[in-house]
Amino acid sequence: MTATSLSSTTPSPKGTALVTGASAGIGKTYAKRLAARGYDLILVARRGDLLEELAHALRAAHRVGVTTLAADLGNAVDLERVAQRVEQDDGISMLVNNAGVSTFGQVATTPTAALEAMTAVNVAALVRLSRAAVAAFVRRNRGTLVNIGSVLGFHSLPISAAYSGTKGYVLNFTRGLQDEVANTDVVVQLVLPAATATDIWDLGGVPLSTLDAAKVMTVDDLVDAALAGLDQGERITLPSVEDTQLFLDYDTARLKLMGASQTGKPASRYRLQR
Ligand code: NAP
Repeated sequence: MTATSLSSTTPSPKGTALVTGASAGIGKTYAKRLAARGYDLILVARRGDLLEELAHALRAAHRVGVTTLAADLGNAVDLERVAQRVEQDDGISMLVNNAGVSTFGQVATTPTAALEAMTAVNVAALVRLSRAAVAAFVRRNRGTLVNIGSVLGFHSLPISAAYSGTKGYVLNFTRGLQDEVANTDVVVQLVLPAATATDIWDLGGVPLSTLDAAKVMTVDDLVDAALAGLDQGERITLPSVEDTQLFLDYDTARLKLMGASQTGKPASRYRLQR
């Protein structure tokens, strides 16, 4: 892992936002928007050259401090270095856990290494960095954690079982974190994008060009809506869903089902005579 910085500016009163997966797509757009809002930045991804290009442009455009950390979040040593930075840098006021990969295809024919690499980034790295951020933010009683899940966290397709599984983890994990910080001033936002026009589709084996263009959001719209949701105090943001009652109904059914599971005995349809 390498790190470079240019500290020609005084620290931003908004603090520093660390954005993972800032070399492309959604993370790169978060970095641009947060720089425009006056945050200093720490940009994390494997492609350090792309991070440097972005850092250069953002420093010039917004006069914010930008540090790059070239790191493979699937590598334990790199991940730990980023996590230590989150734990120890008191200037970090926001973490956007965005880095992610997809391997679309049937589980049985997907290489085990690809499944493991996806789980390492989408789940293990997100958990480690969330832990680092929440511990630091709760200690200071301020800070914002944004975890990028997916609508595939509550739905699975024949080609998305493993990816949906990772995003289901992000959904339940992040909702649990929200409950943990409920009595503090720490904010935890869960963002659940639907299809968004980024490289992840082509990289994951489903070319973006094969999707129905009418159902694909631009990356600018996705990030702007997610940040608007954050500003409005949303804790679960579904940028493409018009009718928010749908999620409330889903959540009500979830809680009802959970309650109904707490009986301590097999349901009568199993006809167990005890
Ligand atoms: P993207 O354009 O492919 O960008 C993914 C980012 O993650 C890149 O910056 C990549 O940087 C970084 N990354 C991947 N593996 C990494 C690793 N091992 N270590 C460090 N960084 C790594 O994809 P995207 O669409 O912006 O995805 C961002 C997030 O949105 C993901 O969590 C994804 O699951 C989620 N999401 C996307 C969509 C969509 O339709 N696009 C929908 C729902 C959710 P390097 O390659 O330089 O490392």
